[in-house]
Amino acid sequence: MTEEIPRIGLGTWKNQEKNSCANAVEAALEAGYRHIDTAQIYGNERHVGEGIEKSDVPRDEVFVATKLWNTNLTYNETGKHQDDAYQSALRSRDLLGAEAIDLLYVHWPAEDYDDGTLAALDRLYEEDVIEAVGVSNFTPELLRDAERKLDAPLIANQVEAHPLLPQDEMLSVAEDLGIDVVAYSPLGHGNALDLPEVQEVAEKHGATPAQVCIAWSLERGAKPIPKSESPERVRENYGAVGLDLDDEDVEMVNSVGERQRFIDPDFAPDW
Ligand code: NDP
Repeated sequence: MTEEIPRIGLGTWKNQEKNSCANAVEAALEAGYRHIDTAQIYGNERHVGEGIEKSDVPRDEVFVATKLWNTNLTYNETGKHQDDAYQSALRSRDLLGAEAIDLLYVHWPAEDYDDGTLAALDRLYEEDVIEAVGVSNFTPELLRDAERKLDAPLIANQVEAHPLLPQDEMLSVAEDLGIDVVAYSPLGHGNALDLPEVQEVAEKHGATPAQVCIAWSLERGAKPIPKSESPERVRENYGAVGLDLDDEDVEMVNSVGERQRFIDPDFAPDW
């Protein structure tokens, strides 16, 4: 049976330096995180594997997710092309030092993404190279289409979600499909921490703004993956698990009226 995605994960984008990345992963696992998020394009899959290795947490208790980059989405059934979805997933598994990748996402529905990509994911699942499939930056329509076509379990859509981009529609579509929303940039890439609504709730609870953003995300049923390179902030962020927001707090954060999307490259879908 496919494993549940642990409710809070550590983001690792831009944490590329070997020691910094491995130390953040080790600190996260020691603080209680059991989910680490990486991607082929982050260039740190090996360091994530080293961080897991350094920690006292057994490998099989850690849920590791990585993502196929845009240039690795073709599929050649002979499996001989180095840049195709199948081959690059095998490389990621080896870099992570894992027996199997717990969750492999399509990072963006871009470039060569097509039904062949989904066929490669089905094959990887059949061959136990991956435990589950995810997509990222998929619109509701693309999500439904992938879910219909895949034989392997599609368990998550990873999208930007924070107080400045609450993603109400995606949360409801994903709930109907029985798919998790993994919230990336849950601190708004750092920009949500200064919002007065977030700061007010933080003051009320003697918590930090980052903890409020993460607890708010959890309260909405999403699975946030805050990133920090600092072991201290990694621990601080995990403290959100013990922060109980009441309805009034959630309403206060919901009342942020401004909308901002921070990750919007040229190859993004038509949101
Ligand atoms: P986040 O919203 O997690 O914010 C990270 C920023 O906030 C960093 O500058 C970090 O700095 C800072 N920060 C972290 N904790 C604290 C704290 N307690 N107090 C003050 N500042 C803090 O942004 P990301 O964009 O990194 O998103 C998180 C993860 O989501 C990524 O790392 C990646 O794994 C994933 N992601 C996926 C994408 C996709 O396309 N699927 C796109 C973007 C992100 P510092 O490190 O110095 O602490």
